[in-house]
Amino acid sequence: MNDGFSFPPNPYLLLTPGPLTTTATVKAAMLRDWCTWDEDYNRLVEEIRREVTALATSDPGYTSVLLQGSGTFGVEAAVTTAVPEEGELLVVANGAYGRRIHEIARRGRIPASLLDFGELAAPEPERIASEIKRHPRISHVALVHCETTTGMLNPAGAVGRVVKDAGRVFILDAMSSLGGIPFDAAAIGADFLVSSANKCIQGVPGFSFVVARRSELEKTRGRARSLSLDLHDQWETMEKQGGKWRFTSPTHVVRAFRQALVELEAEGGVTARHARYRENGRILVEGMEALGFRPLLPAFLRSPIITAFHRPEHEGYEFGRFYRLLKEKGFVIYPGKVTETETFRIGHIGDVHPQDMRRLLQAVEKSMYWVRA
Ligand SMILES: *Cc1c(COP(=O)(O)O)cnc(C)c1O
Repeated sequence: MNDGFSFPPNPYLLLTPGPLTTTATVKAAMLRDWCTWDEDYNRLVEEIRREVTALATSDPGYTSVLLQGSGTFGVEAAVTTAVPEEGELLVVANGAYGRRIHEIARRGRIPASLLDFGELAAPEPERIASEIKRHPRISHVALVHCETTTGMLNPAGAVGRVVKDAGRVFILDAMSSLGGIPFDAAAIGADFLVSSANKCIQGVPGFSFVVARRSELEKTRGRARSLSLDLHDQWETMEKQGGKWRFTSPTHVVRAFRQALVELEAEGGVTARHARYRENGRILVEGMEALGFRPLLPAFLRSPIITAFHRPEHEGYEFGRFYRLLKEKGFVIYPGKVTETETFRIGHIGDVHPQDMRRLLQAVEKSMYWVRA
């Protein structure tokens, strides 16, 4: 099998919120071909379904379903499968990913309203409660847990509480939080939680997954507006046929994801990974502040996942140039996505460690020399 192949080194670390830097062992797990409907492969899928469910909650009333495509496909599948024709979705947004959920509803011709808190403020549970009270037709509420646009960690538990108190269904985009931040979907009140392979679990991109309260998922038969994004059908096939996907599945990606789950466990689970991400973030922010950079958000709103910084004030600064200088030194950062002010972002997730953050700070310092020159 080994026909002289050896791993080329990564030319740079991805300090981005997915795809992100993965371990060599995760990549190596892809060096085998699997049959999409063979029992060996389906067993692997069933293990993964059990493990992602357990990662999201200890409540036995939950199940999970894997779906081809990136994270957005999972969000679109959850929204367009869960909300019935006579229902309405309230989207609570404070960034691009929240607004994307509203756009998904609009394209799917699902009645939806948008409660937008702007990009720099946290959602207020009281306002969500009164919105639900004023609009009895609202059946579902959607929120992004960690809003990757700014790196803000939203108060999912407090929002979940008002949604559940009002007896509505809660959809949580936990794309960039599951695996990197400890929480329990049932305790938060999330009925549908969406995440993907290539974020904090540190797999490679290619599929998303939804962890759902079984009793809610069961109600969604026939509601989906699309065949390939019918979450209920996909789930039913996986349940009845022991891990079979309806259409060709990203077999190599799924195998790599299994390895990523093993490595998450070996690291010490979500608690240990969360501690590493926090430490990465702490070193990054302290070092950047020492170099004169300012984070976009105050500390109490920041997540351990990604940090947005204001552009530096030097006239010679231009993101493209800064980006290229850092890339030459082995680090790929992320452009800003905030509309009101110019920012750039640096992710602290993936197979990156405190020593990488320290090396990055040296590279930033050197790059700024050229930016200033
Ligand atoms: C990454 C991400 C998504 C999904 O984006 P894709 O490009 O489709 O993978 C959705 N929501 C949040 C909060 C994210 O961070």
